[in-house]
Order: sequence, then structure tokens, then C-alpha cells
Amino acid sequence: MKHLLCTLLFGIFLQGKEIALSFDDAPMSTSKHFETLTRTDMLLKALKELQVPPVMIFANPCKRENSSSVISQLKKYKDAGHFIGNHTCSHPRLDDVGYTEYIKDTKKADDLLFPLFVGQKFFRFPFLNEGKEEKTRDQMRTWLKENNYRNGMISIDNDDHIFSFKINQAKERGKKFNYSKVKKLFIEHLISAVNFYDDLALKTLGYSPKHVLLLHEMDATVMFIRPLIKELRKQGWKIISIQEAYKDKIYFEQPKNIYANNGIIDQMAMEKNGYQVDFNHIDTIKSELNKILGLE
Ligand SMILES: [Zn+2]
Repeated sequence: MKHLLCTLLFGIFLQGKEIALSFDDAPMSTSKHFETLTRTDMLLKALKELQVPPVMIFANPCKRENSSSVISQLKKYKDAGHFIGNHTCSHPRLDDVGYTEYIKDTKKADDLLFPLFVGQKFFRFPFLNEGKEEKTRDQMRTWLKENNYRNGMISIDNDDHIFSFKINQAKERGKKFNYSKVKKLFIEHLISAVNFYDDLALKTLGYSPKHVLLLHEMDATVMFIRPLIKELRKQGWKIISIQEAYKDKIYFEQPKNIYANNGIIDQMAMEKNGYQVDFNHIDTIKSELNKILGLE
């Protein structure tokens, strides 16, 4: 009896708190903070030193005129054991350009990224915009299936890109600021997003899924990735590989509603409750960042 109880408790303890990392919009161009290759190398080094299992890099190979330099930069991720996903070639928004243009751009990325793909192909919609019309959404679902793609969904949305945008804006304006204050806010914000969506999953799905965290290959995220990973681990999160996370049944869901823009947990909550309860702290974060960076 005692043994059974221990096994049960151990099982409960082991459930949940698993998270995989994904980085969109790679490779980002040179900024006020980093040269593009330096940033990629920094991220790779941090992931290696912290022994992070394979992540997925969602790439836009049309970012530079010379796509071969983009491919060789992305190949560094592949060579380090990470996965490359298609994030369209030039990052259009589906509802802005329409299905035909969007597919043209997506196919171009598929051709360019082909040498870098390993195993199951994944596609992530820029802006998580899967189409506000059901017809477009369904056309995309069919296209992905026919072209051997799975939707590279995310479970945790958080707007990490705001931090990079703001620190660059401050640097451009010649502001002197304290990076450790930005780091503190970044970590707090990311951790609260993780907890928010895990909690929403428990309420909506009745279990804690293997999470996929949306991040970007951008300055602040790369700068603060080490403390973020350390904090997640300190709070009991296990970093798992992206292939492991995508085995979770939640990433095979095809909700009827069209509210995909905050990730699959939020979309499932909408499906269940009929209203969205997304984690939207963007205005607070922007104003706190403005204070720290002297941008007011
Ligand atoms: Zn993107």
C-alpha cells in the first residue's frame, strides 16, 4: 500500500512542468547591439553550455539578398543538433497578403530550407495569424497536410520581442540605461507568461501539456536566455526537446474557432468557454520599459 502511494505521488510529481524552446524570425539582421552572426553564435553557445535539448529555429530565409549566407548561418543551428522550421520566406501576414501570395512565399522558404530539414517538417505562421476567414484557415490546413508539414504551434505567447525593440530604440537615442533592470523585468514577464498559460491549460484541458515557448532570435532574448533557463529550472521546469513537446496531443488539435493568435491553449480555452483570456501585459511592459530606458 505504502509502495503504491509512493508510486502514485511520484507519478503526480513527475507530471507537467515540461517546456521546449522555439526561436522565431532567424536570422535577425545586425542591430545596434549585435552583428547578426555574433548573435547566432551567442545563442548557440548559451544553449550548449546550459545543455538545452534541441530547440526549433523558425527561419525566414529571404531576409537578405544573399540567401546562401542566410542558409550557412542557419546551418550552424542544424550542425549543433537543433531543428529548423519554416516561418515563410519574408514574414508576411496571411490576412494582409492573401492565400496565393502567402503560399508562394512559403514555398520559396521550403525550397531554400530543404537542405536543413530533418524529419517531420514544421511551419509556424508569422504573427500566429492563421487566417481570420475560415476558408483561408482551411486552405492553409490542407496545404500544410499536402506538403508534409505540421503546424508549429506554441502554447506560451509572451511578446519577448518588445524588449529587443525597446533596448534598440533607447540605444539609437543615445540613452544610458541599466541592463540588469531590463533583465529582471524580462525574466519576471516570461515566467509569469509561462505560469499563466500552464494554469489556463490545467483549467481548460485538465492537464499540463508539454509546453512550447515562443521566443525570438532577437537581442534581449539572446542576451537574457541564460538567466531565463536557469530561472525556469529553479522553478521546477524541465527543458525538453522540441520533438518531445510536439508529441503532445494538444499540437494535433484543429480548433473550429479562428482565434489562433495567442497560441493553442488560448484557442482551446476560446473553444471551450466562448471567450478569450489571453495574457496581455503589453501596455504595462512597454510603459515599464520606457521608464527603465528613459524613453518617456
Ligand atoms: Zn515571426
